[in-house]
Amino acid sequence: MPLNFLSLLTGSFATPAAENPTVAMVEAAYRHHNLDARYINCDVAPVALGDAVRGARAMGWAGFNCSIPHKVAVISHLDGLGQSAQIIGAVNCVVRRGDRLIGENTDGQGFLTSLRTLVDPSGKALVLFGAGGAARAIAVETALAGATSITVVNRDSKRGGELVRLIKEKTPASAELVPWTRPYRVPPETDIVVNATPIGLFPDVDGRLEIEVDSLLPHMVVADVIPNPPRTVLLRDAEARGCVTLDGLGMLVNQGVISIEHWTGIPADASVMRQKVEELFSPESRET
Ligand code: NDP
Repeated sequence: MPLNFLSLLTGSFATPAAENPTVAMVEAAYRHHNLDARYINCDVAPVALGDAVRGARAMGWAGFNCSIPHKVAVISHLDGLGQSAQIIGAVNCVVRRGDRLIGENTDGQGFLTSLRTLVDPSGKALVLFGAGGAARAIAVETALAGATSITVVNRDSKRGGELVRLIKEKTPASAELVPWTRPYRVPPETDIVVNATPIGLFPDVDGRLEIEVDSLLPHMVVADVIPNPPRTVLLRDAEARGCVTLDGLGMLVNQGVISIEHWTGIPADASVMRQKVEELFSPESRET
């Protein structure tokens, strides 16, 4: 076989980018599967996004992730969108297919894969805190997967109302908005509770959602999107109330698994990737 020194190139465009751990997680998978592939973490300013995408195109990158603040802006530089990205209106994973760059959204799909290890959302009632990018992705995927109803609890009624409209217009689920103006009491008929706000994200590790904790009941699955630290106050409160809980590492790892499959065709080993991020988010590595 002739020698081949041309690696498959992937990466991430975001700003700030220095603290984004995805490169370590994805490259752990590349190494584990013996792939001659690289993932380059790039700090890309908003004004440079078009040049960055043209650069990736010119250099034949297999694809790249987009994170804050490029998830919506990148769409105007692409040649098409996958179904989820189109409905959500945001892209976190760009994939080269032939000479076309297609925008996908793997955030909600990663959450769904993680959720399904505990419960199938089909026929279930969700309460979702937040109405930003993560909440939109989670709402759309769980609704398309058959969730019956989604109650969006959000401070900003305008943003919350937009998400409720999106769910009603683009998915079969019913949806309602509860403006988050006082501690929220989770209705007893709720099956799945999801925090999709940044409350609890490092360094806000003691952050607590404004909810009446005694309204969490043992039949509920309580999920958090926060990957760092994985055991948030919400999850600890929920465990103490007898609920089954799901941490944000599962979403992070699984959106990465789906992205890698888009770029390489290989179903990456999620446990290798999880081990890497657990290592990175451990209190010991934070201290060093
Ligand atoms: P956005 O900024 O798009 O949205 C944030 C949402 O949280 C808004 O609805 C906002 O409400 C609400 N919010 C923020 N602060 C508070 C607060 N103090 N009290 C009540 N509500 C609040 O962020 P994203 O959706 O992109 O990200 C949200 C979180 O999800 C982040 O922490 C991110 O790390 C995490 N995430 C995790 C992923 C994973 O793979 N595990 C993937 C993607 C994101 P309002 O509209 O009223 O301002």
